[in-house]
Amino acid sequence: MEEKPEKLIVNGKRLDGREPGELRPLKIQAGVLKRADGSAYVELGGNKILAAVYGPREFHPRHLQQPTTATLRCRYNMAPFSVSDERKRPGPSRRSIEISKVTREALEPVVFLEQYPRAVIDVFIEVLQADAGTRTAGITAASVAMADGGIPMRDLVASVAVGKVDGTIVLDLNKYEDQYGEADMPIAMLPRKKEISLMQMDGNFTPEEFRQAIELAILGCEKIYEAQREALEKKYSANLGGE
Ligand code: UDP
Repeated sequence: MEEKPEKLIVNGKRLDGREPGELRPLKIQAGVLKRADGSAYVELGGNKILAAVYGPREFHPRHLQQPTTATLRCRYNMAPFSVSDERKRPGPSRRSIEISKVTREALEPVVFLEQYPRAVIDVFIEVLQADAGTRTAGITAASVAMADGGIPMRDLVASVAVGKVDGTIVLDLNKYEDQYGEADMPIAMLPRKKEISLMQMDGNFTPEEFRQAIELAILGCEKIYEAQREALEKKYSANLGGE
């Protein structure tokens, strides 16, 4: 593992040159996989993440079907080559099972599941390259993939982490900041309603820091939401143009 840098904030700027409230470079593309019903690709700094959506389709085995709603199934997975250190083993881990669960909980509130009783909607998130904030970037990608797949939704879900490094509240932590900072709080938001559907916490905030962090997360999610919508508009207008 790399050594802890002496300082994570120098002259008010972060080690990668960002201001405390700045996102890493973000790129979102909708409709990148032919075989999936919906798909999206997200790059956020060093993160590269693919999301694929299948369904709504018949849920097998049948005894798992829910008579009045569809089931949303999410699987978050890190490719074994997505991280540089020795920590990642192929296959499900405690961590990926937890992230799959919170991803489902973050996305469920926007989906009109009641429109498809007994069906299943499958959401696959594959982390190809990881640089901290993969659960939140995965949720951002998944909601674009769901919209791309025509899943009826109330809104998109935008997601980003906020945290504290060297006593400063920062948006969108990179790997160093995640590893050596004092706090990390992944947030997912339904931007139109300003409802929060994911909030986790690693570390400590004072109540005032917590308020600041939430405000910053809301601003970050609004920027991400804009990029999500642009990606969908781009795909949609390309289709109208007969591509
Ligand atoms: N990480 C890693 N190996 C692992 C799990 C995580 O190198 O097995 C790295 C990876 O860069 C990840 C970061 O640690 O993005 C932070 O992981 P965390 O569990 O906090 O989740 P994330 O911030 O990605 O949502």
